[in-house]
Amino acid sequence: MSETSENIQSGSDTYQCMNCGAALKYKPGTDFLHCDYCGADTPINAKTVDIVQELDFEQYADNFEQLNTKTTKIISCRKCGAESTFSESVKSTTCPYCTTPLIESDAHEERLIQPSYLLPFKIAGKDTSKHLDTWLKRLWFAPNKLKRQALQTNQLQGVYIPCWTYDAQTETDYSGQKGVHYTTTVGSGKNRRTVTRTNWYYCDGHVSIFFDDVMVPASGMISRDIMNKISNWDTMNMVEADNRFLSGFITEKYVMNMNNGYELAKQKINAEIEYAIRRDIGGDDQRITAKNTQISDIKFKLILLPVYMSSYVYKNKLYHFFLNARTGRVTGDRPYSPAKIALAIIAGVAALILFIMLLNSQ
Ligand SMILES: [Zn+2]
Ligand SMILES: [Zn+2]
Repeated sequence: MSETSENIQSGSDTYQCMNCGAALKYKPGTDFLHCDYCGADTPINAKTVDIVQELDFEQYADNFEQLNTKTTKIISCRKCGAESTFSESVKSTTCPYCTTPLIESDAHEERLIQPSYLLPFKIAGKDTSKHLDTWLKRLWFAPNKLKRQALQTNQLQGVYIPCWTYDAQTETDYSGQKGVHYTTTVGSGKNRRTVTRTNWYYCDGHVSIFFDDVMVPASGMISRDIMNKISNWDTMNMVEADNRFLSGFITEKYVMNMNNGYELAKQKINAEIEYAIRRDIGGDDQRITAKNTQISDIKFKLILLPVYMSSYVYKNKLYHFFLNARTGRVTGDRPYSPAKIALAIIAGVAALILFIMLLNSQ
């Protein structure tokens, strides 16, 4: 702990206000812990990150014990099974995924790898509505009632989502064929026409790519698809993981381990390499007949990303919003209004009939 943090009691992950003893919470967008009772702010003095330290994958992949692990109290949701941790500053809370109350006595302890870096919450909970509002306004065919109801929801929860990142140097030898299009005239008489054909030329080559921070979300609850949709993270602003930033928020336990995460990262890496090979071959069309990739210098780290989520029930079905708490980007699943869709179809058919009538009148 730094000398400036004498106002904070650490040890357990609860930080108390020296003014009044209340549990402190991280104040989004600032470098302070805030007391909701007396209003006092306590500086965190987070360590800024000059050089991001990555861990060697080969060295740790089979030696989990060597990593920075810590016994952590995990609370599982009785209904959906989501596993998370939260500090005492979140007195009682509900599962961010299914809104079932989380019960302290359901907690168990587990040894978990500690995140190295995190992006602190930047957008305050009260400021999320304008981002949600913008998103809702752009939704096509959403029931009007939903728009009102969704904004009234007070189930908003701030959750840190665990995410693995991987770096790797790749060297790939490939062989393939370059396709070059040409046009020629075929047939005779009435059947005479121009067609496009391809000449294929054998080629081989080498592509060398360094991958930096290939992200693989390790959440068991938010799909990777959802995380991709809100993935405009400003990772250059990461700070060293400090539990004070977690105070007042829920932190989801990583469910995917670092090895499975690496397998997914490799899929992303291979897709990029294939794209690079096609660019390298050039021409109008490409065939890759063989490729051999050497991956070296694989590094990894565990980070936490701040997401607000809210769930609401509309006509007995549960829907979720997800909001990137750094950039305000929103995504979510949503119902469609059958009435609005029907109206759109009717309008479309009417336009088509009008169009045909205009054509015929000429
Ligand atoms: Zn206080
Ligand atoms: Zn749940």
